[in-house]
Amino acid sequence: MKFIGAHVSASGGLENAPRNAHRIGATAFALFTKNQRQWSAAPLTGAQIEAFRRACDEAGYTAAQILPHDSYLINLGHPEAEGLAKSRAAFFEEMARCEALGLDRLNFHPGSHLNKMAPEESLDRIAESINQALDRTHGVTAVIENTAGQGSNLGFDFEHLAYLIDRVEDKSRVGVCLDTCHAFAAGYDLRTAEACERTFAEFDRIVGFRYLRGMHLNDAMKILASRVDRHSPLGAGEIGMECFRYIARDARFDGIPLILETPDESLWPEEIATLQALAAEA
Ligand SMILES: [Zn+2]
Ligand SMILES: [Zn+2]
Repeated sequence: MKFIGAHVSASGGLENAPRNAHRIGATAFALFTKNQRQWSAAPLTGAQIEAFRRACDEAGYTAAQILPHDSYLINLGHPEAEGLAKSRAAFFEEMARCEALGLDRLNFHPGSHLNKMAPEESLDRIAESINQALDRTHGVTAVIENTAGQGSNLGFDFEHLAYLIDRVEDKSRVGVCLDTCHAFAAGYDLRTAEACERTFAEFDRIVGFRYLRGMHLNDAMKILASRVDRHSPLGAGEIGMECFRYIARDARFDGIPLILETPDESLWPEEIATLQALAAEA
Protein backbone atom coordinates (compact mmCIF):
# COMPACT_ATOMS: atom_id res chain seq x y z
CA MET A 1 0.00 0.00 0.00
CA LYS A 2 1.38 3.39 -1.02
CA PHE A 3 0.75 6.42 1.20
CA ILE A 4 0.98 9.49 -1.04
CA GLY A 5 0.56 13.13 -0.11
CA ALA A 6 2.19 16.52 0.30
CA HIS A 7 3.66 18.88 2.88
CA VAL A 8 0.49 20.77 3.74
CA SER A 9 -0.17 23.92 5.73
CA ALA A 10 -1.08 23.74 9.40
CA SER A 11 -1.81 27.43 9.66
CA GLY A 12 -4.76 28.28 11.87
CA GLY A 13 -4.26 25.08 13.90
CA LEU A 14 -2.53 21.72 13.56
CA GLU A 15 -5.91 20.06 12.93
CA ASN A 16 -6.00 21.89 9.60
CA ALA A 17 -3.11 19.79 8.25
CA PRO A 18 -5.05 16.50 8.01
CA ARG A 19 -8.05 18.44 6.67
CA ASN A 20 -5.94 20.11 3.98
CA ALA A 21 -4.39 16.76 3.08
CA HIS A 22 -7.78 15.06 2.85
CA ARG A 23 -9.08 17.82 0.58
CA ILE A 24 -6.38 17.11 -2.05
CA GLY A 25 -6.91 13.35 -2.05
CA ALA A 26 -3.76 12.58 -0.06
CA THR A 27 -3.24 9.33 1.86
CA ALA A 28 -0.18 10.79 3.63
CA PHE A 29 0.96 14.26 4.67
CA ALA A 30 3.85 16.23 6.14
CA LEU A 31 3.55 19.25 8.41
CA PHE A 32 5.46 21.58 10.69
CA THR A 33 4.16 21.18 14.25
CA LYS A 34 5.26 24.76 15.00
CA ASN A 35 6.38 27.83 13.05
CA GLN A 36 9.42 26.52 11.18
CA ARG A 37 11.16 29.92 11.23
CA GLN A 38 11.06 30.30 15.00
CA TRP A 39 13.20 28.64 17.64
CA SER A 40 10.48 27.96 20.15
CA ALA A 41 6.73 27.68 20.49
CA ALA A 42 4.20 27.72 23.28
CA PRO A 43 3.69 24.17 24.61
CA LEU A 44 0.83 22.24 23.04
CA THR A 45 -2.38 22.30 25.06
CA GLY A 46 -4.53 19.25 25.67
CA ALA A 47 -7.22 20.81 23.46
CA GLN A 48 -4.78 21.30 20.56
CA ILE A 49 -3.56 17.72 20.82
CA GLU A 50 -7.11 16.42 20.98
CA ALA A 51 -8.20 18.50 17.96
CA PHE A 52 -5.26 17.22 15.88
CA ARG A 53 -5.83 13.59 16.82
CA ARG A 54 -9.55 13.82 16.14
CA ALA A 55 -8.98 15.43 12.71
CA CYS A 56 -6.48 12.66 11.81
CA ASP A 57 -8.98 9.99 12.90
CA GLU A 58 -11.80 11.57 10.93
CA ALA A 59 -9.72 11.74 7.76
CA GLY A 60 -8.26 8.25 8.34
CA TYR A 61 -4.59 9.09 8.89
CA THR A 62 -2.47 6.92 11.19
CA ALA A 63 1.05 7.82 12.38
CA ALA A 64 2.57 5.72 9.57
CA GLN A 65 1.07 8.19 7.08
CA ILE A 66 2.37 11.37 8.74
CA LEU A 67 5.89 12.80 8.43
CA PRO A 68 6.46 15.91 10.56
CA HIS A 69 9.41 18.12 9.56
CA ASP A 70 11.43 20.15 12.06
CA SER A 71 12.46 23.82 11.92
CA TYR A 72 15.00 25.00 9.35
CA LEU A 73 16.89 26.89 12.06
CA ILE A 74 18.13 23.76 13.83
CA ASN A 75 21.74 22.67 13.15
CA LEU A 76 22.54 19.54 15.15
CA GLY A 77 26.16 19.61 13.95
CA HIS A 78 26.76 23.26 14.82
CA PRO A 79 30.48 24.03 15.27
CA GLU A 80 29.86 26.53 18.09
CA ALA A 81 28.69 25.68 21.60
CA GLU A 82 25.90 28.22 21.77
CA GLY A 83 24.37 27.34 18.38
CA LEU A 84 24.67 23.65 19.18
CA ALA A 85 22.96 23.98 22.57
CA LYS A 86 20.13 26.06 21.09
CA SER A 87 19.67 23.52 18.29
CA ARG A 88 19.65 20.55 20.63
CA ALA A 89 17.06 22.19 22.89
CA ALA A 90 14.85 23.05 19.90
CA PHE A 91 15.19 19.54 18.45
CA PHE A 92 14.22 17.96 21.76
CA GLU A 93 11.19 20.26 21.88
CA GLU A 94 10.17 19.15 18.37
CA MET A 95 10.58 15.47 19.26
CA ALA A 96 8.50 15.99 22.41
CA ARG A 97 5.76 17.71 20.40
CA CYS A 98 5.60 14.73 18.05
CA GLU A 99 5.39 12.37 21.01
CA ALA A 100 2.55 14.42 22.53
CA LEU A 101 0.68 14.39 19.21
CA GLY A 102 0.93 10.60 18.94
CA LEU A 103 3.30 10.84 15.96
CA ASP A 104 6.09 8.31 15.56
CA ARG A 105 8.75 10.05 13.46
CA LEU A 106 10.41 13.43 12.95
CA ASN A 107 12.11 14.34 9.69
CA PHE A 108 15.13 16.68 9.92
CA HIS A 109 18.17 17.82 7.96
CA PRO A 110 21.33 16.52 9.65
CA GLY A 111 23.27 19.79 9.95
CA SER A 112 26.11 21.95 8.63
CA HIS A 113 29.75 22.37 9.58
CA LEU A 114 29.65 26.04 8.42
CA ASN A 115 33.27 25.67 7.28
CA LYS A 116 34.38 25.99 10.88
CA MET A 117 34.89 22.33 11.65
CA ALA A 118 35.88 19.11 9.87
CA PRO A 119 32.84 17.38 8.33
CA GLU A 120 33.48 14.22 10.33
CA GLU A 121 33.59 16.13 13.63
CA SER A 122 30.31 17.82 12.76
CA LEU A 123 28.77 14.42 11.92
CA ASP A 124 29.88 13.16 15.35
CA ARG A 125 28.04 16.09 16.94
CA ILE A 126 24.91 15.28 14.94
CA ALA A 127 24.98 11.66 16.11
CA GLU A 128 25.43 12.80 19.71
CA SER A 129 22.54 15.28 19.28
CA ILE A 130 20.30 12.44 18.06
CA ASN A 131 21.33 10.21 20.97
CA GLN A 132 20.52 12.96 23.47
CA ALA A 133 17.06 13.57 21.97
CA LEU A 134 16.26 9.84 21.86
CA ASP A 135 17.32 9.48 25.50
CA ARG A 136 14.75 12.06 26.56
CA THR A 137 11.79 10.98 24.41
CA HIS A 138 9.81 7.82 23.71
CA GLY A 139 8.33 6.28 20.60
CA VAL A 140 9.54 8.88 18.09
CA THR A 141 12.07 7.90 15.42
CA ALA A 142 14.65 10.48 14.34
CA VAL A 143 14.39 10.48 10.53
CA ILE A 144 17.49 11.92 8.85
CA GLU A 145 16.89 13.49 5.44
CA ASN A 146 19.53 13.31 2.73
CA THR A 147 20.47 16.78 1.48
CA ALA A 148 21.51 18.37 -1.81
CA GLY A 149 24.90 19.23 -0.31
CA GLN A 150 24.37 22.94 -0.82
CA GLY A 151 26.90 25.10 1.08
CA SER A 152 28.34 23.21 4.04
CA ASN A 153 25.29 20.98 4.57
CA LEU A 154 26.11 17.41 5.50
CA GLY A 155 24.02 14.34 4.62
CA PHE A 156 24.30 14.54 0.83
CA ASP A 157 26.33 11.33 0.64
CA PHE A 158 24.66 8.01 1.57
CA GLU A 159 27.88 7.34 3.52
CA HIS A 160 27.02 10.28 5.82
CA LEU A 161 23.63 8.71 6.61
CA ALA A 162 25.28 5.37 7.35
CA TYR A 163 27.93 7.08 9.50
CA LEU A 164 25.22 8.70 11.63
CA ILE A 165 23.09 5.55 11.97
CA ASP A 166 26.21 3.67 13.00
CA ARG A 167 26.71 6.05 15.92
CA VAL A 168 23.09 6.16 17.10
CA GLU A 169 22.70 3.88 20.10
CA ASP A 170 19.03 2.94 19.65
CA LYS A 171 18.86 1.65 16.06
CA SER A 172 15.11 1.05 16.42
CA ARG A 173 14.50 4.81 16.57
CA VAL A 174 16.69 6.12 13.78
CA GLY A 175 15.68 6.19 10.13
CA VAL A 176 16.07 8.10 6.92
CA CYS A 177 13.92 10.08 4.52
CA LEU A 178 15.17 10.17 0.94
CA ASP A 179 14.44 13.32 -1.03
CA THR A 180 14.68 12.59 -4.76
CA CYS A 181 15.63 16.17 -5.68
CA HIS A 182 18.35 16.25 -3.02
CA ALA A 183 19.74 12.85 -4.09
CA PHE A 184 19.86 13.96 -7.73
CA ALA A 185 21.46 17.30 -6.84
CA ALA A 186 24.03 15.36 -4.81
CA GLY A 187 24.97 13.29 -7.87
CA TYR A 188 22.73 10.19 -7.64
CA ASP A 189 21.16 9.66 -11.05
CA LEU A 190 17.41 8.89 -11.11
CA ARG A 191 16.51 9.73 -14.70
CA THR A 192 15.83 6.20 -15.96
CA ALA A 193 14.61 2.94 -14.44
CA GLU A 194 18.17 1.60 -14.74
CA ALA A 195 19.59 4.65 -12.96
CA CYS A 196 16.97 4.25 -10.21
CA GLU A 197 17.87 0.58 -9.92
CA ARG A 198 21.55 1.48 -9.41
CA THR A 199 20.95 4.40 -7.05
CA PHE A 200 18.54 2.49 -4.80
CA ALA A 201 20.81 -0.58 -4.81
CA GLU A 202 23.60 1.69 -3.61
CA PHE A 203 21.29 3.13 -0.96
CA ASP A 204 20.37 -0.38 0.16
CA ARG A 205 24.00 -1.47 0.31
CA ILE A 206 25.27 1.58 2.22
CA VAL A 207 22.26 2.50 4.40
CA GLY A 208 19.64 -0.26 4.04
CA PHE A 209 15.96 -0.08 3.08
CA ARG A 210 15.09 -1.21 6.62
CA TYR A 211 15.88 2.34 7.74
CA LEU A 212 13.64 4.05 5.17
CA ARG A 213 10.84 5.88 7.03
CA GLY A 214 9.69 8.32 4.35
CA MET A 215 10.36 9.82 0.93
CA HIS A 216 10.16 13.33 -0.46
CA LEU A 217 9.10 13.16 -4.10
CA ASN A 218 10.39 16.22 -5.92
CA ASP A 219 11.70 16.80 -9.41
CA ALA A 220 14.89 18.88 -9.66
CA MET A 221 15.23 22.26 -11.33
CA LYS A 222 19.01 21.94 -11.73
CA ILE A 223 21.17 19.33 -13.45
CA LEU A 224 22.64 16.15 -11.94
CA ALA A 225 25.24 16.85 -9.22
CA SER A 226 24.43 20.59 -9.19
CA ARG A 227 24.43 20.63 -5.36
CA VAL A 228 21.58 23.14 -5.67
CA ASP A 229 18.34 22.49 -3.77
CA ARG A 230 15.58 23.71 -6.09
CA HIS A 231 12.44 21.59 -6.49
CA SER A 232 10.28 21.27 -9.62
CA PRO A 233 6.82 19.75 -10.20
CA LEU A 234 6.98 16.03 -11.05
CA GLY A 235 8.00 15.51 -14.67
CA ALA A 236 8.83 19.20 -15.15
CA GLY A 237 12.46 19.05 -14.03
CA GLU A 238 15.77 17.36 -14.80
CA ILE A 239 14.78 14.02 -13.21
CA GLY A 240 11.62 13.38 -15.21
CA MET A 241 8.60 11.14 -14.66
CA GLU A 242 10.36 7.75 -14.99
CA CYS A 243 11.76 7.99 -11.43
CA PHE A 244 8.34 8.60 -9.89
CA ARG A 245 6.80 5.78 -11.94
CA TYR A 246 9.59 3.51 -10.63
CA ILE A 247 8.96 4.47 -6.99
CA ALA A 248 5.16 4.23 -7.29
CA ARG A 249 5.47 0.67 -8.61
CA ASP A 250 8.19 -0.62 -6.26
CA ALA A 251 7.04 -2.41 -3.09
CA ARG A 252 10.13 -1.22 -1.17
CA PHE A 253 8.38 2.16 -0.88
CA ASP A 254 5.14 0.71 0.56
CA GLY A 255 3.81 1.68 3.97
CA ILE A 256 5.79 4.93 4.44
CA PRO A 257 4.77 8.54 3.78
CA LEU A 258 5.65 9.58 0.20
CA ILE A 259 5.53 13.37 0.35
CA LEU A 260 5.46 15.98 -2.40
CA GLU A 261 7.36 19.20 -1.68
CA THR A 262 6.86 20.42 -5.22
CA PRO A 263 6.57 24.18 -5.65
CA ASP A 264 3.14 24.54 -7.30
CA GLU A 265 0.50 23.58 -4.72
CA SER A 266 -2.27 23.87 -7.29
CA LEU A 267 -0.78 20.80 -9.02
CA TRP A 268 -0.79 18.61 -5.89
CA PRO A 269 -4.21 16.96 -6.45
CA GLU A 270 -3.12 16.02 -9.97
CA GLU A 271 0.38 14.87 -8.92
CA ILE A 272 -1.11 12.72 -6.15
CA ALA A 273 -3.72 11.23 -8.49
CA THR A 274 -1.02 10.43 -11.05
CA LEU A 275 1.16 8.68 -8.47
CA GLN A 276 -1.83 6.76 -7.09
CA ALA A 277 -2.74 5.61 -10.61
CA LEU A 278 0.84 4.47 -11.23
CA ALA A 279 0.86 2.61 -7.91
CA ALA A 280 -2.43 0.92 -8.79
CA GLU A 281 -0.89 -0.42 -12.01
CA ALA A 282 1.80 -2.29 -10.08
ZN1 LIG B 1 13.55 18.71 4.36
ZN1 LIG C 1 12.80 17.27 1.35
